[in-house]
Amino acid sequence: RINDAVNENIIKSGGSNVDSDSINLMLKEISNALLESDVNIKLVMKLRERIKKSIDVECEKNKSINKKKLIQKIVFDELCNLVDFETYEENNDNNNNNNDKKKITVFKPKKKQSNVIMFVGLQGSGKTTSCTKLAVYYQRRGFKVGLVCADTFRAGAFDQLKQNATKAKIPYYGSYTETDPVKVSFDGVEKFKKEKFEIIIVDTSGRHRQEEQLFEEMIQISNAVNPQQTIMVLDAAIGQAAESQAKAFKESANFGAIILTKMDGHAKGGGAISAVAATKTPIIFIGTGEHIQDLETFQPRNFISKLLGIGDIQGLMEHVKSLNLDQKDTMKNLSEGKFTLLDFQTQLNNMLKMGPLSKIASMLPGGLGQMLNQAGEEDTTLMIKRMIYIMDSMTKKELASDGRIFIQEPSRIVRVARGSGTSVGEVESVLMQQRAMEGMASNMAGMSRAGGTPPPGI
Ligand code: GDP
Ligand code: MG
Repeated sequence: RINDAVNENIIKSGGSNVDSDSINLMLKEISNALLESDVNIKLVMKLRERIKKSIDVECEKNKSINKKKLIQKIVFDELCNLVDFETYEENNDNNNNNNDKKKITVFKPKKKQSNVIMFVGLQGSGKTTSCTKLAVYYQRRGFKVGLVCADTFRAGAFDQLKQNATKAKIPYYGSYTETDPVKVSFDGVEKFKKEKFEIIIVDTSGRHRQEEQLFEEMIQISNAVNPQQTIMVLDAAIGQAAESQAKAFKESANFGAIILTKMDGHAKGGGAISAVAATKTPIIFIGTGEHIQDLETFQPRNFISKLLGIGDIQGLMEHVKSLNLDQKDTMKNLSEGKFTLLDFQTQLNNMLKMGPLSKIASMLPGGLGQMLNQAGEEDTTLMIKRMIYIMDSMTKKELASDGRIFIQEPSRIVRVARGSGTSVGEVESVLMQQRAMEGMASNMAGMSRAGGTPPPGI
């Protein structure tokens, strides 16, 4: 969407070198696109000023610089800067790196002692689910992990945690009768400490009988269990409310990290940027599904790529790589900014081998990802098969092309639709998807040629 804004204006301005009017117009459209993605208005204004300044500085240094590439790179870098922190571990003063990244200390649990991690966040944000995911994450790294349910508000909360914990084979603590969350959390943590648990995760309710007392309750639980780390869980769909919510939790529970959940859905998590900025606290993980294993470390560049609509290239490429699929030529083409119809067909064939498709789809840029996301698993497979049939009906020359040949000679579209037993609309949709991918490929290659580091994976 944002790259579209840049591209459209480049076209309007008739070339790669743009005057200040079209730069302003471009900035306006980029700003609008960011606002639509729930990025906070004040942040967008600040960003716009910074981008303007950077353009001036860069153009001063190099008059013949390609402004289109420059703007794309600056937008990308500035957004990354907002969510990227330079982290260093506690008790480590090795802090002599003087770039302008925000420096923060990250929590690192220590073996052979009790590390208490408390979860906060509104009801429904994904705390209980993320607690279990994190427990599994640490368990796999050799820690002895226990879960404590301090949600005494919602009937069934303890059962939910119990179910999750049992599935993941993680010891848990909770009570059906005790109604005081402070007492339950204190007792649970004490019990696990006595039993020499190394990581004790405390799940809280996110809701209170009296709304305004939720934060008071968080303070009390925090005082009772004295956590080494507090994590705020934020739903990617939170939107503009993220800032005030994060501030309120920061004041009461002083969390040191954020987990952003439901990144597998349609929301791109733009709101989370303001939560990060307002609390100067990094996102450490993202939740990418309802299952225990759906937890990924937060990658600033991937996150921003997705927000800008250029897809999670690294995620996709890593997945493809891990499957050892047919991809050599596509990789080569991608690195040159090309993406032919044959590349597209190869990728779709690979996708069918990869499963679960909904997950792959969420990594794709543009309409295809969304379209497949909305469809069920079965429909998705069928849809992809039809797309592959369509490309099976194309000639070698057509497949090796960038698809423009169909626009020049529309009769080809009719022929392919007939040959594949599909419709003209479906063929056009395939061409559109391929063009979106190609646009992305050329942007990425462009960014790396403009001298900046491209998003990882290319
Ligand atoms: P809590 O009230 O904060 O404890 O939230 P829960 O952990 O109970 O989660 C609320 C709902 O969101 C449940 O249906 C979860 O399965 C779902 N959920 C949590 N995290 C994710 C995620 O990363 N992706 C998806 N798709 N669903 C999630
Ligand atoms: Mg819960």
